[in-house]
Amino acid sequence: MPLLFQRDIGSEHRAFTPTAIRKLLINALAATSLTNAGGEPLTFSPHDFQRIFVTDAIMNGLPPHIAQVICGHRSIDTTIGCKAVYPVETIEAHRAFIARRRASRPGEEYRTPTEEEWDACIAHFEKRKVSIGTCARAFGTACIHEHACVRCSLLRPDPARRARLADIRDNLIARISEAEREGWLGEVEGLRVSLAGADDKLAQLDAEQTRRGTATDLGMPTFAQITTRTSEVGEPAP
Ligand code: SF4
Repeated sequence: MPLLFQRDIGSEHRAFTPTAIRKLLINALAATSLTNAGGEPLTFSPHDFQRIFVTDAIMNGLPPHIAQVICGHRSIDTTIGCKAVYPVETIEAHRAFIARRRASRPGEEYRTPTEEEWDACIAHFEKRKVSIGTCARAFGTACIHEHACVRCSLLRPDPARRARLADIRDNLIARISEAEREGWLGEVEGLRVSLAGADDKLAQLDAEQTRRGTATDLGMPTFAQITTRTSEVGEPAP
């Protein structure tokens, strides 16, 4: 198991419970006779390790949102609450991290792009438009899937092109029937792969539509009503 604290029980590896870890820590600290600034015995809880990790990681330049993912926190506020440093220290540590990253990159990468490079960049995004959506392949890479977009995982289907995608799916079904009828079995397998791709893209669009249709309406924010005391202005407030 990918756990730091685990033990063998019989033939199984089992995780220590938080209570067991706390007891082990208390016993270990008692054996050291270490005390805090007030002269009392030191105490730690398992959660202190998370605080130590987050503090150390952020102070060494790890972006807080990465620490959030590592710790499994839903909110970045929880991660920030775990660290024993002030926000300004976090920002300074992150700036230092960025400066170190920039220093380690070749200087020529920080130059103004040439006209040709700008044109190539714009052309790349123009070329990403396909009939049923957008090709999401990376800049500077060619299509390695022989423009079989309907089968390709890099295609992001456009909801506005759903009807066209449905036509393609219907056409593939008709072609499979024709190929089976005519005995063109070599073609059937490839057409079925394309059909599965078209069905998958349609399912993606429908799932996205459902997700948008079930979005929670948070309503409009309201403002605190400001009332005017009639005794101060001599007439009722509007
Ligand atoms: S097959 Fe894939 S990589 Fe090639 S153009 Fe279509 S979406 Fe892009």
